[in-house]
Amino acid sequence: MFQRWFQNRYDEAVKVTTPLSPWVVKQLSKWFNDAHHFVVKPINRVEFELKDGKKDRLVNLSKKTCSCCEFQTDLLPCNHAIAAISKCKHEAVEFYADNYKTTVLVEDYAGSIRLVGHPSEWDISLHVKQIVVLPLAWQCQTRKPRRKRIPLVGESSRPRRCSQCNRYRHNR
Ligand SMILES: [Zn+2]
Repeated sequence: MFQRWFQNRYDEAVKVTTPLSPWVVKQLSKWFNDAHHFVVKPINRVEFELKDGKKDRLVNLSKKTCSCCEFQTDLLPCNHAIAAISKCKHEAVEFYADNYKTTVLVEDYAGSIRLVGHPSEWDISLHVKQIVVLPLAWQCQTRKPRRKRIPLVGESSRPRRCSQCNRYRHNR
């Protein structure tokens, strides 16, 4: 199964002609459309202040960060960073992590997946064979459900007849 998955993904990756993966290209196109709505003010050569009508954002292209935190978390420029990148005439591809680049994608799926063989053929070291793996300690917590309803405060329970005097008495 892994062999098939890797081969299929490798075949798809080598067909890609863009420097970034198709998913990133689609995302990038969306971010470029959003970027037109921002007012970008350069603070210096690497820092930019953006106004989008709701919140102000601060983008640092040198540190690859944005105050929205998407740039540094996803390792790909957010729409604010794309606006800043466009303002300073850089190429967006410079700011993407290598994982999103087509060349890396091809290399990732070029690896070989070999069969593991039958367990009787495995070469397992003695110290690994001696390890005993037990399931976690677990205690059954099932409890028999209560059959009698607890009366509310002020609610009287059904009177019962006394076996000695044969009178009714109320339980409390
Ligand atoms: Zn952002």
